[in-house]
Amino acid sequence: GKKIAVMTSGGDSPGMSGAVRAVVRQTLASGCISFAVYEGYQGLVDGGDMIKKMAWEDVRGWLSEGGTLIGTARCKAFMERPGRLTAANNMIEKGIDALVICGGDGSLTGADKFRAEWPGLMDELVQKGLRKEEEVRAHRHLNIVGLVGSIDNDLSGTDATIGCYSSLERICQAIDYIDATALSHQRAFVIEVMGRHCGWLALMAGVSCGADFIFIPENPPSENWEDDMCNVVKKHREMGKRKTIIIVAEGAHDRQLNHISPNQVKDLLSDRVGLDTRVTTLGHVQRGGPPSAYDRMLATLQGVEAVKAVLDSTPETESPVICIVENKIVRKPLVDAIAKTKEVAAMIERKDFAGAMKGRDAEFEE
Ligand code: ATP
Repeated sequence: GKKIAVMTSGGDSPGMSGAVRAVVRQTLASGCISFAVYEGYQGLVDGGDMIKKMAWEDVRGWLSEGGTLIGTARCKAFMERPGRLTAANNMIEKGIDALVICGGDGSLTGADKFRAEWPGLMDELVQKGLRKEEEVRAHRHLNIVGLVGSIDNDLSGTDATIGCYSSLERICQAIDYIDATALSHQRAFVIEVMGRHCGWLALMAGVSCGADFIFIPENPPSENWEDDMCNVVKKHREMGKRKTIIIVAEGAHDRQLNHISPNQVKDLLSDRVGLDTRVTTLGHVQRGGPPSAYDRMLATLQGVEAVKAVLDSTPETESPVICIVENKIVRKPLVDAIAKTKEVAAMIERKDFAGAMKGRDAEFEE
């Protein structure tokens, strides 16, 4: 049977373990041989025991586990061609020429580059005497399928990434806890949430928790945002609200063009509105814990689809990424999804916020 490997790469997200479970089991159910690559691309470069053959029971119980049980890493060596040559050699040693990768845009970019280079890498392995011609003959084509695992929900072309709804759930829970104490003391809280350059988590947390004001990178505040925010908060207080919740997306804080720091917001609320204000950075609890039911479902359905995509592929097929669009699991060209995602990031960079908002939702077809 065909040998199909699965790996997780980049930042971890809840549901990644469930995705690995689905890929392993669908691989076996299809009569193929399953492998897991441990510690992301580092495992491919290191080879040996890091590329482990998987049995049905090896992934038992993984659906409800947070993070990724096969580990993830950021790997410098894989960024360079010699690292990828070593990785290819390790794969040929095991007879693997199909790889399902669950990760963010960086990981998927690396995967597609690997696929494009693969025939050249095969030639080089033979030229360097590392592999015999007959060893590589059956593996002239590398099959890549992407699964999007990220809490940020930052990939264009898919409505949800594996992990984003679990993270949102966790953020809402944390804000509920903060709400209770804020309400008791009539305090204001400025809460920083994750999401890198994407404001989805902050926006949806704001909607889900009834925040008073949010800051996201896609929609930077106006010139007089300080007055705007203070007026909104004052108005809410005058209406009888005993607590104030302001959400600052990590991207709104970090980006140079849109540098809203939680402490700056806190000082405004203290000095100009007269509120007893605290800052809470939620940090890595947002990434941890068991996946929500939605992410377990998404990871399972997409993992199954990824294996089907591997089995359907021909040397002419473009690498697909498995998406969810309007509740349907669909395949899209991986390169297009990444290009669109990068385009949106560039739009934010040059302050084309309307374009960025549109681009996040944009549909594109083959
Ligand atoms: P997250 O969005 O959670 O950070 P990510 O997949 O975008 O996840 P990255 O750190 O960008 O995370 O990428 C993970 C790894 O993928 C890198 O450490 C590197 O090994 C590999 N990689 C990323 N980009 C490339 C590339 N252009 N060429 C080759 N390998 C790459």
